[in-house]
Amino acid sequence: MLGDFHVHTQYCQHGTDDKMEAYVLQAIEKGLTHLSFTEHAPLPESFTDPAPNRDSAMDRNKVEAYVLEGKALQKQYKNDLQINIGFEVDYIKGYEQETQTFLDTYGPEMDDGILSVHMLQAPDKSFFCIDFSEEEFGRAADRFGGLTPLYKAYYDNLQASVETDLGHFKPRRIGHITLIQKFHLAYPKPAAFLEEQQHILELIKRKGYELDINTAGLFKPLCKEIYPPAELIEHAAQLGIPLIPGSDSHAAVGIGKGFEELANYSLQLPQRINA
Ligand SMILES: [Zn+2]
Ligand SMILES: [Zn+2]
Repeated sequence: MLGDFHVHTQYCQHGTDDKMEAYVLQAIEKGLTHLSFTEHAPLPESFTDPAPNRDSAMDRNKVEAYVLEGKALQKQYKNDLQINIGFEVDYIKGYEQETQTFLDTYGPEMDDGILSVHMLQAPDKSFFCIDFSEEEFGRAADRFGGLTPLYKAYYDNLQASVETDLGHFKPRRIGHITLIQKFHLAYPKPAAFLEEQQHILELIKRKGYELDINTAGLFKPLCKEIYPPAELIEHAAQLGIPLIPGSDSHAAVGIGKGFEELANYSLQLPQRINA
């Protein structure tokens, strides 16, 4: 197995307290050769975290410590594992400038990165963190006027995330492109959205970006599928989009979890941001 390229740490407020080194040791134990730490980058300063626990990302004042700890591990374990340090960066419509400022500041320290949509703005301007909980997802659907407009907003934002200019250090991998389906066993998806999904894959291809093949959804009780599901992975593969595996672990024990489901795909290493 190549590696796990979507991994969180103790710096994330909604994860576990497992230290970065515990993830490293687990990766080595599992026989991985590569590991990308992609902690949730701090949210833009002027943005209020809409998640009920206000715990969606890492604290701004912990960024330096995170990078330093990662770099120390990179050195310490360099003969056993190639460790990449990076961020999972939120794409939030309307906050592009602040997001780019963060990337311009920390991009030079980054080896790898993921761009994800978790935050959506309802017609009444309130924001929702769509993957926080089933209840919160239900509240979002109400506020958007139903599941169809909620899904539509998700794919619109996802498309904007691929198209938007976030400067030189914009992450080149698009995160869990069907996260909106996290609770689909409770809230059945209102339509296939195939056209939107395929269009996004085509844009990813055109931009030369990569796809996060994210096994976390398999273990979510109301999802039980990879982000994105098999048909879309196959479509991406046909387009020649690099498929980059990630467990989206928030605990060391989750490293490489579910990767046996990816055995039939031809997975790749991410391009390094500062190559
Ligand atoms: Zn997380
Ligand atoms: Zn995410």
